[in-house]
Amino acid sequence: MSGRILIADDVATNRIALKAKLSVAHYDVLPAACGADAIARAEAEHPDLILASARMADMDGADLIRAIRSRPALADLPVVLILPGDTAAARIAALRAGADDAITKPVGDRMLLARLRGLLRRHRGTRELRINAGTSGTPGLAEAATGFDSRGRVAVIAADQDRALCLRTRLKPHCGHELTTIGTHDPVGALASGLRADVFVVMIGADKAGDGPRRMAELRAAPHAGHSRIVAVMPRETETLAAALLDTGADDVVTAGLDPREISLRLGTQVRQKLSADRLRDRLRDDLRASVIDPLTGLHNRRYALPCLDRMVEAAMRTHRPLAVMVADLDYFKRVNDTLGHAAGDHVLRKVAGLLGENLREHDLIARIGGEEFLIALPETNRAQARRMAGRLCRLVRRSGIEVPGRNEPVQITVSIGVTLARSDPEGTRPSVDMLLGQADRALYASKADGRNTVTFAARTAA
Ligand code: GH3
Ligand code: MG
Ligand code: MG
Repeated sequence: MSGRILIADDVATNRIALKAKLSVAHYDVLPAACGADAIARAEAEHPDLILASARMADMDGADLIRAIRSRPALADLPVVLILPGDTAAARIAALRAGADDAITKPVGDRMLLARLRGLLRRHRGTRELRINAGTSGTPGLAEAATGFDSRGRVAVIAADQDRALCLRTRLKPHCGHELTTIGTHDPVGALASGLRADVFVVMIGADKAGDGPRRMAELRAAPHAGHSRIVAVMPRETETLAAALLDTGADDVVTAGLDPREISLRLGTQVRQKLSADRLRDRLRDDLRASVIDPLTGLHNRRYALPCLDRMVEAAMRTHRPLAVMVADLDYFKRVNDTLGHAAGDHVLRKVAGLLGENLREHDLIARIGGEEFLIALPETNRAQARRMAGRLCRLVRRSGIEVPGRNEPVQITVSIGVTLARSDPEGTRPSVDMLLGQADRALYASKADGRNTVTFAARTAA
């Protein structure tokens, strides 16, 4: 099953004809005989898309869309309106009302199916993003901050710059987005040289059949096209070409001669959806970052560090390289808090974290794994090198003298370090992260017992 489509039409023969077309294409079809029925079924049966007549007796297209958008569970459901005759005014009204697409009768099968496939694909993509970004229960929440009218960047690309400029001039009065033009035979090359936009409007030439879809596929697959939307502009209305362009990567297809208001509305839809998906992706990235970064020090946290250490151990065993694992703990840190206050303590922690981090190599790991405790893992570091490195970190902290706002005297702090080396046992099994941390911890404890501000190595294991 490729998706559930709700068909809303109060003319039974229309429903039957549409159902036949969609069933052949393996869609699961939910018929509804009026607007109210459509809303009730949509709420109860969660279709992936609504395909509705814009002229039902109980509700016109705009009313239906309003009713759908006002229900949180349905707010982001794609709605395609089918209009009775080919009038630009009706399509413009439908798009203004918020239809994801507006198709006029007679509806060509190839074109209809290609448009539905595209809409469903994008809808699924957004739904996945919402789930991942944790906003699935509240469609539109993460996007709301973008604002409905966020300005996007639209780039009109044509082989001939004059054609691109001509389209831009027609669109300009109706399009609230930044419109640029590029004259090039090679959009993929233009992307590689840095061309970026939220929506690319690609004017297809009247060349050999197949050229347009091939170029569309190349552009869609170009590494720099990223999440940009693509709107293809055909020289004239051709259903087969339109369907092929949609199937090869265009998010929408228009003809050059179409009313510029309609083209602008369609561009606006693409810009809005693209920007809202960007926001979801940003949010997801921020959340992922936040889940592995300690907000106080900016170092990685324990949750990140343990699996990372596990991978480092695995690599060390595989390549037979030594890996040094250290646990460093601030000495008498409680006193800093007790005498100077928690805020000063935080400041000292941040400074020490910075100091340790700055003195490691790019591929070393440092993480805050406890209150005032850091894990440091140094690949390709043998016992002698680890001893030198740990001694150096100890000295750096001891000599640092940390300036704390509001205090004249720098704060003196020291650190104790426990070190162990990851090595495989004679059976070739690799040491676990728990085992290594246990060894480093015991060595750290010995440093503390030894008077602090010092480095201790874990007792050599049998190996
Ligand atoms: P030792 O030399 O034995 O390690 O002594 P210590 O005082 O450092 O060790 P202890 O474990 O007794 O105390 C650790 C202190 O670290 C207690 C706690 O208040 C403080 N601490 C832990 N996390 C933070 C933090 O995020 N900010 C501040 N300011 N203090 C913290
Ligand atoms: Mg301590
Ligand atoms: Mg501690």
